[in-house]
Amino acid sequence: MSTTATAAYVHVPFCRHRCGYCDFTLIAGRDDLVPAYLRGLERELRFHPHDPPTGRTDLKTLFFGGGTPTHPGPADLAKLLQLVRDRFELAENAEVSVEANPLDLTEEKLQVLIDHGVNRISLGVQSFHDDELRQLERDHTAVDLQRIIPVTQRFLPNLSVDLIFGIPGQTLAAWEQSLKQAIHSGATHISTYGLTFESGTAFETRRRRGQLQPTPEDLEREMYALVMEMLPAAGFEQYEISNFARPGFRCQHNEVYWRGDEYHAYGPGAARYLNRRRETNIRSVLGWLAKLDRGLTPVADVDELSPDTQARELIFLGLRRNSGIDRTDFQRRTGWNLEDFAGDIITRQVEFGSLVSDPKGLRLTQAGRFIADRVIAEFL
Ligand code: SF4
Repeated sequence: MSTTATAAYVHVPFCRHRCGYCDFTLIAGRDDLVPAYLRGLERELRFHPHDPPTGRTDLKTLFFGGGTPTHPGPADLAKLLQLVRDRFELAENAEVSVEANPLDLTEEKLQVLIDHGVNRISLGVQSFHDDELRQLERDHTAVDLQRIIPVTQRFLPNLSVDLIFGIPGQTLAAWEQSLKQAIHSGATHISTYGLTFESGTAFETRRRRGQLQPTPEDLEREMYALVMEMLPAAGFEQYEISNFARPGFRCQHNEVYWRGDEYHAYGPGAARYLNRRRETNIRSVLGWLAKLDRGLTPVADVDELSPDTQARELIFLGLRRNSGIDRTDFQRRTGWNLEDFAGDIITRQVEFGSLVSDPKGLRLTQAGRFIADRVIAEFL
């Protein structure tokens, strides 16, 4: 079946070690599997029956996420990027993003990235304080960041910085300092995430045993309020609950997800959305590989979205964006008028002060962003 998707995600599941809070699909300390992964990826890139009739698709956005895409050595990194470039054409001005771990970024690897068309890098900074970085079990220090960020920007000026707040023991003053350093780093984009204790992670086990104290809710709220105050004051536009960009530097790839548009995806645990169908690959790297080596599909789950589910997803994703859900677009894509579909919930949340509903559409209020998960859950 053909598709008009112009976005692709590639999951690279390697990391030096697993950070205690991380529940992503990855395999730590198994660099010996990189060649096999590349073989699997090459097969998967040829495998999926979603090619348009003319053969290759022109991509407008291509995103390498992980894991840590920059973890493999320079030769393997070059091969990874080339495999994908051989499968897809890039549209003019396509956004090509790579997630990176600071300590992986040698000048040699940065050169490989730009030689293969990468033009945006998302750096897992998380904090500018050593005690917090140790708490998060990250392998870099604040001094490493002072060296690595300017070098990275020399090669890739379009730099996004990821930060985490709500780290056990983190103070509001320390969080403010990290935000200031991110602002002054020259980053074009900043993503800020509240720390979560996901089931199955080492952090969750330590929390249950009383060894880690989650940040009190009111302090976490103050931290998020500070983000929404400081970043816009420094010239960053908030365009999604967790994401802030200098003008012209929104992440185009993530906008594809939040608009509910289609995208290709490859790699262990990767999820694609094509022709109203969500497919998720086997999470285990070895399981994914074993299927592809036998010429079988690596897909573990298939979800054919009913019109009702698709409409709920459009609301769920759209409310994450500051621009919210456009009424005309919602009706065009689902056949439903927003009020006919979810009028009761909208009225209740508008009265509660969490949503704004006007002729253009529906979006979270500033107050609603603090409880976004709860508001959005009402629609699911
Ligand atoms: S570097 Fe990122 S992907 Fe890898 S274990 Fe740590 S948080 Fe997870």
